[in-house]
Amino acid sequence: MLIDTRELDPSEPVRGDLCIVGAGAAGITIATELIGADTEVILLESGDSEVLDPETQDLGAGANVGRTLTFLGSELSLASTHLRILGGTTMHWNGVCRPLDVEDFEQRRWIPDSGWPIERADLDPYYPGAQELLALGPFEYDWQYWTENYDIGQPLIHDDAVATVMYQLSPPARFGTLYREDLVNAANVRLLIWANATNLNIEPESDRLASVTVATLEGDEVTVEAKVFVLAAGGIEVPRLLLASNDVRRAGLGNQHDLVGRYFMEHPHVPIGLASLGRSWRELSLYSPLRYLEIDDPAQPQVPGRAYGGFAATAAERASRELLGAAVTLPENPVHPPAWTGGLDQTSVGELYEAETGRRPQVDAQLMVRAEQAPNPESRVTLSEERDALGLPRAQLDWRLSDQDIESVQRTLVVLAERFGVHQVGRVQVEQNALPPADWPIEVGNHHMGTTRMAADPRRGVVDANCRVHDVANLYVASSSVFTTSGYANPTLTIVALALRLAEHLRTQIL
Ligand SMILES: Cc1cc2nc3c(=O)[nH]c(=O)nc-3n(C[C@H](O)[C@H](O)[C@H](O)COP(=O)(O)OP(=O)(O)OC[C@H]3O[C@@H](n4cnc5c(N)ncnc54)[C@H](O)[C@@H]3O)c2cc1C
Repeated sequence: MLIDTRELDPSEPVRGDLCIVGAGAAGITIATELIGADTEVILLESGDSEVLDPETQDLGAGANVGRTLTFLGSELSLASTHLRILGGTTMHWNGVCRPLDVEDFEQRRWIPDSGWPIERADLDPYYPGAQELLALGPFEYDWQYWTENYDIGQPLIHDDAVATVMYQLSPPARFGTLYREDLVNAANVRLLIWANATNLNIEPESDRLASVTVATLEGDEVTVEAKVFVLAAGGIEVPRLLLASNDVRRAGLGNQHDLVGRYFMEHPHVPIGLASLGRSWRELSLYSPLRYLEIDDPAQPQVPGRAYGGFAATAAERASRELLGAAVTLPENPVHPPAWTGGLDQTSVGELYEAETGRRPQVDAQLMVRAEQAPNPESRVTLSEERDALGLPRAQLDWRLSDQDIESVQRTLVVLAERFGVHQVGRVQVEQNALPPADWPIEVGNHHMGTTRMAADPRRGVVDANCRVHDVANLYVASSSVFTTSGYANPTLTIVALALRLAEHLRTQIL
């Protein structure tokens, strides 16, 4: 059922079994999973169900006092990196998907604060369902599957040091459009639009959340009471709500060890090297997102096969060289800012290739590295002094990148350069001896991770292995904010897999 919160009687609390705050990828996944269950679900959405409203969107505005977030050379405002409308940020995401790797969940000695309390095997049962919800093809990320089933040639490199890794492209799935009708028609789901959660209400001396205060821009307030609550408002808004709900616990909820909002991670997109390759674009088609869009899978005519490859250091190579995760792709039409090469130019790379091989390069490409950044408690979301139209303190981001983050990107490229040379694929130019200056534009994926990190020990994380806030018995988080480390893969497939896992946990054990 669709309910306009502005038409509710403010004196009547809305009551249900489960209240989900935020109807984006994560919130909609949980609500749709529970359709038909013996559970009264209340799904709160800040925005409209169809149209993006500028005043609502402004509720998510905030300052970034840290490293500039850029995309295609322009500075991004915080508000533009997440949307307030049914479907959330999927209403303008790009759809690039890949699961996290096995080693992303492990404790890696060279990455402080790494190590999830769950393993990749814990998510494996949920990734296929997430593929379906995101309108992707089969849960296949080995290049062998794609080269066996499609006429796309062979990988250039797949050896002990460098692997060819696959991505899939969602159409892209817009959750507000795809799942609106299901939610509206579901007898056990009440979808409240124009419903802004402004406070999480906990009683003194209690470890249970009693209700959520919901405000509209028209000035009305209603209370939503439930047995269980899930915060699914995105990686900036989840910590903001926990921190701002400080009327009973002064540090906010989940923040007994001062961890809420800390460890904010993005995926730095770093154009950092130039390559001259001895292959044509046709021979490189496995690595071309643009060419690959045409292929159809006859077994699944409704889902066009959309996949393309990149290069990543293998787990063994990452461990031996102490690298963070990173994947390198070849953009066919570079539209990004110029690569950091320490002043070396494309001509010199081409000449190098020609001098060493006696052949002219066929393709010049700027390499794009999408990288993991190491968890860093100083990279964080806090509350600003400024308030939004509903009186809630705005979020303030202080995004930090460390030398380890940038050096790891450079060193990954060195591994790739070595293997390009060994396999006579081409030559890569990368500046090894100097880091880009601090104001070098580093793009982001609009991936907001780590701000309510998962850890078994409450002193190391905000949520436990079931995504429950350690110090609130009936409050859960569904968001990339729970990522302990980020890997290099785009997050949404894993967000949806985690949401499916949480929905099952709630349905079978809690509700
Ligand atoms: C331009 C762009 C491109 C992207 N491309 C990719 C990509 O290619 N691959 C990928 O994996 N990811 C991509 N992303 C990121 C992706 O969109 C997010 O990872 C994903 O949408 C996060 O899902 P979520 O449900 O956690 O949050 P969201 O989708 O942001 O949903 C959060 C919901 O909560 C609601 N909400 C917020 N605060 C409140 C409140 N106080 N009360 C009630 N409701 C509230 C919002 O209105 C929203 O509907 C991209 C993002 C952008 C901006």
